[in-house]
Amino acid sequence: MKSKKNKPTKVTEKKTTAKDKEKKGAAAPSEKALPAGKQAPSKKTYNVLRGMHDILPKDDKYWKLVSHAAENLAEYFQFGRIETPLLEETSLFVRSIGRGTDVVDKEMYSFEDRDGARVCLRPEATASVVRAYIGNGMWNMTQPIKVWYQGPMFRHDRPQAGRYREFFQVGFETLGAKDPSADAELILVAYSFFKDIGLPVTVAINSIGTPEERERYVNELTSYYRSKRSYLCEECRTRLVKNPLRLLDCKEVGCQPVKEGAPQIVDWLTEDSKSYFMKVLEYLDELSIPYLLTPTLVRGLDYYTHTVFELYPAFGEAGSQSAVAGGGRYDLLVEELGGRPAPAAGVAIGLERAITSLKAYNEENKIVLSEPKFSIFFAQLGDEAKRQAFKIISELRSSSIRVAFNFFKNSLKTQLEAANSLGVAYVVILGQKEVQDKTVIIRDMESGVQEIVDQKKLEHIIKKKLGIEIR
Ligand code: AMP
Repeated sequence: MKSKKNKPTKVTEKKTTAKDKEKKGAAAPSEKALPAGKQAPSKKTYNVLRGMHDILPKDDKYWKLVSHAAENLAEYFQFGRIETPLLEETSLFVRSIGRGTDVVDKEMYSFEDRDGARVCLRPEATASVVRAYIGNGMWNMTQPIKVWYQGPMFRHDRPQAGRYREFFQVGFETLGAKDPSADAELILVAYSFFKDIGLPVTVAINSIGTPEERERYVNELTSYYRSKRSYLCEECRTRLVKNPLRLLDCKEVGCQPVKEGAPQIVDWLTEDSKSYFMKVLEYLDELSIPYLLTPTLVRGLDYYTHTVFELYPAFGEAGSQSAVAGGGRYDLLVEELGGRPAPAAGVAIGLERAITSLKAYNEENKIVLSEPKFSIFFAQLGDEAKRQAFKIISELRSSSIRVAFNFFKNSLKTQLEAANSLGVAYVVILGQKEVQDKTVIIRDMESGVQEIVDQKKLEHIIKKKLGIEIR
């Protein structure tokens, strides 16, 4: 085995200069702030790993939006939360996703742990959910089992726009049911997710039948592609040998005419499989979910059977390039992973792509996401007032009153300005005099009228003013 140790590795410990920091928006260290004669220590700074990213407070409202949408849908459609570890046995994914797929062959973060076990950062969660379904005896409970998850996945792919090495997915899985309504429900949940966050999407859908049907189709596909070998790109020539179904994924311009003339899998499906697929489509018609029959859609993972689908943003050109969600039926996976046979289906939504597309859509349509709303602003003046303010704010919070405050601003003017920009209707002011009198001032921000009230009555009065039910 070739050892990578022999290769000299270039260590990119870039020293960050003050200029670099300025470029990134961070404040440059001020020479003046250091004691005379002392220079700022030049320490190594760290960058986020390639293909990974920080989720920053500026995007909080987007992450909240997608999390709330997922949570609400899960509750409504009765999917129970499941969280599985980020680390699993590597072979779990090799057996489920399959050799010859990009994920297994090229993208897994697989390594030996300290006990010599071959483990892997999960590249997706369906296999983990199936492991949990088998291992926790969920197959023994009333079927189907409907679960959902949210968390990071890891794929060491070539990073590019919308493709990360760590990315977040929300997923919904229905195990122990084979019924077209289960497939349709998953598509409905994913479709509703995007509707709820405000992103129009369209569904691409296909059926890839059973493994037997697929095998017959792949034979036909292979002989067709072999006859066109000289027109194919390098990658497709490899796919022809390693994973012929993936030939249908090729985006190379030169391969498109070949792809267009390729045999279509629906023609190789049995009547049963066709009729199952038709029933799924009938549900979508009934639900008015727009879909596009896409004979080239085969999905990148081996475990799929029958229905496969992807969701794409339905606006702009760039948006439609990459799927924001994908899923399908995987009737044989539970058995493949050692469980009692149980048909199943699932969908995974890519949250970074959902958020990026939503931002682009909102920008195009001049839609501004609302900031969290506060009911009142609490202004404090002086140290003692600050000390007491925390207590009063905590009490108000327990009564579901959303209080904004800023303890790093001490002047009343700046605090009133902050209150104004948040658009709150009332400001509660606690100054030195009020501390002594055990009172507070309530200022009506619209009229400017102020009243002095007893601290003990504050909660009651504020609730009355805000129309919050008093119990
Ligand atoms: P998959 O598990 O490949 O079916 O992917 C489901 C969804 O996850 C995709 O439609 C994307 O939205 C998202 N996704 C998959 N791979 C990545 C990635 N490398 N970076 C960001 N999002 C991804």
